[in-house]
Amino acid sequence: MSTRTERACMICAIIQPYREFLSQGCPNCESLLAYKNDDELVQDCTSPSFEGLLAVCDTANSWAAKWLRVDGFQPGLYAVKVNGRLPEDIARDLEAKGVVYRPRDGSAQD
Ligand SMILES: [Zn+2]
Repeated sequence: MSTRTERACMICAIIQPYREFLSQGCPNCESLLAYKNDDELVQDCTSPSFEGLLAVCDTANSWAAKWLRVDGFQPGLYAVKVNGRLPEDIARDLEAKGVVYRPRDGSAQD
């Protein structure tokens, strides 16, 4: 069993410890998803399986941020690839709010 407690948000790919998603929410997606204190939502919308770590300090200007499509997001540690998909009802909810969800598992094509 893995002892790794870090999880990556499936929407913005930021990596945080599980309990931080639970206590603080996602620094980028909290207004959309309200992870805070919602155990089930954190389980559903973050993934323990991700690849590649990238520390992004200046998300407004970094090439890495643009490449990862995290420009405008909070500085932090991001995953290059997040395995897993948002549950469909949540993806639909986001769409209704005008957010286009791009799966970060490598399946999205440009
Ligand atoms: Zn997020």
